[in-house]
Amino acid sequence: MLTLQQLLDLTPTAVRRRTANPRIRRIKDKEENKSGKKYRAVYTRTAFYNAVSTGNSYTLIIRNFGTKRFPNDYKFRPSSLLWVHCSCPYFLYNVEVALTLKSSSSIYDSNGALPRIKNPTLRPYLCKHLFATVANQLKADGAG
Ligand SMILES: [Zn+2]
Repeated sequence: MLTLQQLLDLTPTAVRRRTANPRIRRIKDKEENKSGKKYRAVYTRTAFYNAVSTGNSYTLIIRNFGTKRFPNDYKFRPSSLLWVHCSCPYFLYNVEVALTLKSSSSIYDSNGALPRIKNPTLRPYLCKHLFATVANQLKADGAG
């Protein structure tokens, strides 16, 4: 599983440039667990109000599994281990499979086929919605 900082760093500049004026609406922020493993889950609806965006809002899920040293530390920190999902088509076609191969997402919306054209090097990174939301959460937790 990749860390928050790795995911931010791997995100191409072309994607980051599209993250101006995000509107992030928090839906849920709570502890959950799956197969006995606890984590903090943040659900948001995220959209952008800028010239290069349609303004469509998408549903995001970010699961924070704590850090390697402190698995119960659910503040968003650069070393937090993250699992992410976004309902946007970009996420589906470019990064769902690449992130799943690093255990930082799961196959939900795609057919699981490798993105041979959109992301042939299988670079695991964030769509613009996830990038803005994760960066915002890092700032909110004061651990940036
Ligand atoms: Zn997205």
